[in-house]
Amino acid sequence: MSSNTRLLITRRLPEPVEERAKHEFDVLLNPSDHQYASADLVAACENFEPSALLVTPTERLDEAFIRQLPGSVKIIASYSVGLDHIDLAAAKKRSIVVSHTPGALTSATADIAILCLLGAARHAYRAQQDLRHGQWKRWDPTGYIGVELDGAVLGIVGMGRIGRATAMRAQAFGMEVRYWNRTTLSQAQLKAKGLSATPCERLEELLAVSDAVSLHVPYTPETHHLIDADAINAIKPEALLINTARGSIVDDEAILEGLKRGKLAGIGFDVFDGEPDFNQAYLDAPNAYLLPHIGSATNQARNKMGMMALDSIEAALSGNPIPNTACSS
Ligand code: NAP
Repeated sequence: MSSNTRLLITRRLPEPVEERAKHEFDVLLNPSDHQYASADLVAACENFEPSALLVTPTERLDEAFIRQLPGSVKIIASYSVGLDHIDLAAAKKRSIVVSHTPGALTSATADIAILCLLGAARHAYRAQQDLRHGQWKRWDPTGYIGVELDGAVLGIVGMGRIGRATAMRAQAFGMEVRYWNRTTLSQAQLKAKGLSATPCERLEELLAVSDAVSLHVPYTPETHHLIDADAINAIKPEALLINTARGSIVDDEAILEGLKRGKLAGIGFDVFDGEPDFNQAYLDAPNAYLLPHIGSATNQARNKMGMMALDSIEAALSGNPIPNTACSS
């Protein structure tokens, strides 16, 4: 790749990723890691005329933004697997390739789903708070009583890469796995992953039989508020709800109401609608184990995501088959 080829990277990335980018491209980095306003990013693109953009989920690349990009831009590589922040149809219209990083963050995110599950199952937030704020007076035979995962049913909503990786971890805890997916997986597909899991035809069916429900679908118009008041009504009493997918898949008001009236025994959320400006009522909700979108935050995942993005950019700009495209030109 000619080092004259221009690449604009919107956020600060791990050092090995930025070093490779500097070596292979004429790169505009963001050392102060400021958040580009949409208009500023358009202006930066007009001045720099990059062939490629490497973006993250903190930038919203809507139709208006993509329409204003200079003709020099051939590929947008997203430093994420989810692509709900990019208008793929608008990119296609402009013949801009969009790539993402499937698989790079599967293990890291599945680990966080299990952390959220355990956090909610064992009242980890309140226990930590009490310990840190001098409220731990003595061992309590009736305090912090949670539920065991062994023998409980985990309902996976979206049995893709992260759904399956979460199911495998849950199986190791002795959980029985059921799932709801657009496509039913064959026994051979499940067996290849060492998984034993029963499909449910309808989401309501899965919700009614699961002691814990873990969300792993992408955010799309079809999955918007998939877990709404009706879903909370259908959910097994005192179930746990885990969300490491995207915040807008759940209706916050329905979740908060479900927690308030005890229909949900607890939640473990890593993602929020409107994040980082999430619904502050979650902070006071009973048994809410909350994390600030750290699903992919491991050295391994974040480095791999960057390298995958650079591989896609390199391939796109040298006319080779592009790995990990979500939308080709
Ligand atoms: P994936 O392998 O594509 O799996 C998505 C699953 O959801 C697939 O089984 C798919 O079914 C199903 N699905 C897709 N659209 C659906 C719909 N409209 N209705 C019902 N099911 C649908 O993706 P992944 O790598 O597991 O990632 C899943 C999501 O996790 C990402 O999109 C992202 O939003 C989120 N994520 C979050 C973090 C974090 O930091 N918390 C990190 C990584 C990813 P089919 O098999 O029929 O396609």
